Amino acid sequence: MSSGYLTSDRLMMQEMARTFTREQVTPLANRLDPEKGDIPRSLIDQMGELGFFGILIPVEHGGLGLGAFEYCLVAEELARGWMSVASIIARGNSFYRSIPGTGEARAARIAAMARGDYLGAAALSEPQTGSDLSSVSCRARREGDEWVITGAKYWCTFADGADFISVLCRIDDPDAPNGKGGTVSVIVEKPRGELPKGVTGSPIPKIGYHGWKTWELSFDGVRAPVQEARPSDTGRAFQATAAALGLARAHTAARSIGLAQAALDHAVGYARERVQFGQPISDFQAIRFKIATMATEIEAARQLMYHTCTELDAGRPATKETSMVKYFASEMSERVTSEALQILGGAGYTTLHPVERYWRDARLTKIFEGTSEIQQRIISDQLLGKPTRK
Ligand SMILES: Cc1cc2nc3c(=O)[nH]c(=O)nc-3n(C[C@H](O)[C@H](O)[C@H](O)COP(=O)(O)OP(=O)(O)OC[C@H]3O[C@@H](n4cnc5c(N)ncnc54)[C@H](O)[C@@H]3O)c2cc1C
Repeated sequence: MSSGYLTSDRLMMQEMARTFTREQVTPLANRLDPEKGDIPRSLIDQMGELGFFGILIPVEHGGLGLGAFEYCLVAEELARGWMSVASIIARGNSFYRSIPGTGEARAARIAAMARGDYLGAAALSEPQTGSDLSSVSCRARREGDEWVITGAKYWCTFADGADFISVLCRIDDPDAPNGKGGTVSVIVEKPRGELPKGVTGSPIPKIGYHGWKTWELSFDGVRAPVQEARPSDTGRAFQATAAALGLARAHTAARSIGLAQAALDHAVGYARERVQFGQPISDFQAIRFKIATMATEIEAARQLMYHTCTELDAGRPATKETSMVKYFASEMSERVTSEALQILGGAGYTTLHPVERYWRDARLTKIFEGTSEIQQRIISDQLLGKPTRK
């Protein structure tokens, strides 16, 4: 469905991403998801050529110089094929601002990122630190021009495949008040396909989000250069991370909507073909009303996403809107993918149809990038102010 938001340029981009997903992403997902295979490098290269990693990167750095709107439009389409593919574009688009270095060296890294040739992983969460990221305990001690990192990280997706890991650390400063220094975000560069020197870890067994592995990591005196020029290296990395979450939440909403749309499309096709009691099940009002409700919920989430992206592209923080769209779209996605599975009956509960994949992946969207409960907290804080604690 088109709307006033969708200019002809945006419609062209959407169509390009849709065709790419149909022809390249979905067949790969159908083959690789059951065997928990990784997104092939050849697909990443193709996405790099299409500019998907640099949608938000300025043109002078080799990107497309577009906005959150186009970023989410593409992510929605890719998620209709495989959620991890829709996710990996964030490893360029949302990481480029924190690229280390200065001058030409930094520009070269950003240009490589726009091509999909310099992609990151984020090590924020820890075994004891999830929703409350302000309490990270992985330590970075400064030794001359280097940070030395020691501590545990959990849930680091793409730690092996990335070209660098951005590690959120507490500064080891014995003179800090309460023994708690500020936070830094240290970029640890590494060979692709390996963990950095001094890091050990293993993949966490997960029920979906296949296409890349998610790691438990242990840092043991890992060294990385200090980059004074970056705001996230000046002791306020947690605040910088929190500020970047708005875009990440809109991107998660886009992925949720793509999953729900794919599930709906599959369910509609199935309902037309499947005959029971002498007629297609799409003739039963119970099924028709399910489909009507699913489509309505998807479109409501999509319009909220368009509005939220427009706010972000206008330079407004949109704190309430980004939480609302993340919350609404991810909850919607779990409901809609589950209803799609119901429409397929027993066939939905098999790996012979992709609906079970959409359902498993939609389940995650309620958990990462801030759980639904955390989004509700942010929205209610915006409306009521923070609760007073005595
Ligand atoms: C597949 C997968 C991939 C991931 N990839 C990455 C990654 O690449 N990098 C990374 O750093 N992290 C990653 N994460 C971590 C993810 O961001 C966290 O799982 C998420 O932030 C929630 O943290 P937690 O799991 O520790 O849950 P907890 O914070 O322990 O929360 C447990 C429950 O308590 C609720 N809760 C917590 N605090 C409150 C509160 N104040 N009010 C009300 N309810 C509350 C939560 O909503 C939840 O229901 C990934 C997670 C998964 C599952």
